[in-house]
Parts: sequence; C-alpha cells; structure tokens
Amino acid sequence: MKYINIHTHTLVEAQNELHVFNHIVGKDTTFSKYFSAGIHPWHVDEKNLDGQLAKLRELVSQANCVAVGECGIDKVQGPDMPTQEKVLREHIKLAIEFNKPLVIHCVKGFQELLKCLKAEKFAGNFIMHGFNSPIEIAFPFLKMTNCYFSFGRALIQDGSNAEILIKMLPLDRVFLETDAKEINIKNIYDAAIVINSISELVITEQIISNYKKVFVNGLN
Ligand SMILES: [Zn+2]
Repeated sequence: MKYINIHTHTLVEAQNELHVFNHIVGKDTTFSKYFSAGIHPWHVDEKNLDGQLAKLRELVSQANCVAVGECGIDKVQGPDMPTQEKVLREHIKLAIEFNKPLVIHCVKGFQELLKCLKAEKFAGNFIMHGFNSPIEIAFPFLKMTNCYFSFGRALIQDGSNAEILIKMLPLDRVFLETDAKEINIKNIYDAAIVINSISELVITEQIISNYKKVFVNGLN
C-alpha cells in the first residue's frame, strides 16, 4: 500500500511513501525521483527573475517534473502584488504549455489567484496545497471541477478549517501532504481516516486514482 504525499520539502521518502518533492527555484539544489518545480513567492529574486524563469522552464520540461509549483500569491510575505501576479502567470503559462498541473500556495490572495487563472484562461488541473482556510474561501474553488485540495498537518488539529472541509468534499477532490513539516505522511492519512470514518484502503486507493488523473507521471 502506498501513501502518496503530493507535496513535501523532505528528500527522503518514508516507508510505503511515494512523494513529490517540491523543488524551489532559487533556493533548492536537490531533487528526488519525482518533483514539482516552482518559484515560491518568498523566493522570487526580482534582480534575477529572467534567470529564475529560464531555470523554471528547463525544470518543468523534464519528464520527472510532475507538476508546476508551488507558486502563487502571498500577501503576508513576498514581493509586491504586480510582481507576484506576473510570476504566477508565468507558471500558469508553463502549466498550459507542458500540460502539467499547478500546485498553488495562497495566503490571503484568493481574488488575485482567481484573476490570474482567468486571465490566462487556465483550464488544467490545480491543487490548493496545505489548504486550511475558512469554507467561504473554498466556495468559488469548489465550483471549479479542475480544482483539488491538499491537506496536511492541519488535519491533526481538532476543529481546523481543513477538518471541516475534508468532511464535506468528495474524496475525488482530495490529496494529502506533509509540506515542510517533520511528520510522517501516514499520520496525515490516519487523521483523514478518522475524520471521514473511512477505511485505509478506501482513502489510499482514492488518492492513487486522483494522482493518476491529475499528475502526469510518477506512479511506478
Ligand atoms: Zn511547501
């Protein structure tokens, strides 16, 4: 049985884990077998943006790069909004060109995110990673059938927004992840199993099926 972890910054896989390592352009030098590549809003280098974008394109074109991101909008940390929107739109263009899903980081910038997706007429799949926002925020995204939600450590906190949302979402819109946290992906699966009162077999098989539908490569 494989526990798919769609977003981690930890290189080594745990037992029975199959992960997508998130390589941050401008910060990381490492990769694991399957990775996503993006310029995180915190790591946008405005003096070398063209260089970062060229590096990003080179990485996204590789077969083992299974998704574009994490990328997105962060209103708490990072450059000004026009710069962040420009960088996000470059990621969206690459996702379209290479037909790969987007992994989205979004802190308080949901309107800007929707605006950028619309401006680029993005119709591919995207994943709101580490989602733990109030349900009202999720509503416009729920209506978009190309949007998926990935939940992490917040599932372990009683009464979190993530706990409320995973209970009401159809499981075919759900992914699980560890992100930058020192936690085993199995603990996140265990939390989802308890919250949704489902078996381990049901959730692991569902997420494998979701992975095959959304990601381009990486299940072998
Ligand atoms: Zn991350």
